[in-house]
Amino acid sequence: MLLAPLNLAIAVQNLSVHQDYKEGATRFLALAPVGNAAKEKWIYACSLQPITKMRMTDILVATTDETACPYDPDLLKQHQPGKVVKKFPGNGQYFFDMDDNNDDQKKRRHTGDNPERKRREFDPENCWFCLSSPTVEKHLVISVGTHCYLALPKGPLTPYHVLILPIAHHQAVTRVPEDIIEEIKKFKEALKKFYSSMGQVVVFFERNFKTSHLQIQCVPMPKVCESQLLEVFQDEAGINSIQLEVLPPYADIAQVALPGSPYFHAELPSGEQLFAKTKHTFPLQFGRDVLSSPPLLNCEDKADWRQCLLSREEENEYVIRFRQKFKPYDFTAEDDDDSD
Ligand SMILES: [Zn+2]
Repeated sequence: MLLAPLNLAIAVQNLSVHQDYKEGATRFLALAPVGNAAKEKWIYACSLQPITKMRMTDILVATTDETACPYDPDLLKQHQPGKVVKKFPGNGQYFFDMDDNNDDQKKRRHTGDNPERKRREFDPENCWFCLSSPTVEKHLVISVGTHCYLALPKGPLTPYHVLILPIAHHQAVTRVPEDIIEEIKKFKEALKKFYSSMGQVVVFFERNFKTSHLQIQCVPMPKVCESQLLEVFQDEAGINSIQLEVLPPYADIAQVALPGSPYFHAELPSGEQLFAKTKHTFPLQFGRDVLSSPPLLNCEDKADWRQCLLSREEENEYVIRFRQKFKPYDFTAEDDDDSD
């Protein structure tokens, strides 16, 4: 809670949608001087939530008295969080150091959407998900097959949320050899049976955008959510201006996506597939945003995995419990005694 007992303007950042982009907006609350004779409101309490934790639907609620931003949108777009900016009363720009403009453009050339930028190369030694990498967190590994493995994600949405990952370094399901595809399918079928035994259905999704190592998220959810899944995905896509195509169960994602192009792909319990080409921007937590929303898992605080990290002990517990329960469905353990 924030109290503003002085003659202050409180700025609350909001986003508003313009024709082809979303732009930050600021909401001001004007307060009268403290103890003014007219007894006008001079104190205001408000509960502020960091914008990174807000749902897009809340952020996009328009105000009735919105006015256009007085600053040049091109300059605003160059703003980089954390950048120290100077105040230059002379040129009327309070947010940006105009003299720093060239420097900004140079930086954008390296970090922005410039097609000429150097493609980042990934070193499997430093990959979080290559099973042979020294940086992989081995305690999260649940089951290892011939080409793929199952692992607990960091900050799982539910206790049985897991990832299917290739053991070697591959970027996307559209770019892996057939034997890996086959084993991914095998893991999916095993997981469907496993979740079904607990009365749950599963949503699989992959975001091939700003990821280096293929990860298929497998999120179990109560059967009652099944009928709403498509609608909630479409609503959230609409809010984010994402064109989400619904593909029939037999469609092959590798045939739909252009070779090497980034995309988002989900597979619903009905078998229907959702596919979106990702452009310059795509909400990185889109799949989690949808599944954590109130009509579905109703755990919005977990939409961002970084906000719901488990302790090492909890991670160990989750992995052990998953392994034990999954054992009858785990084809990689067929040679083991699975009598329990
Ligand atoms: Zn890797």
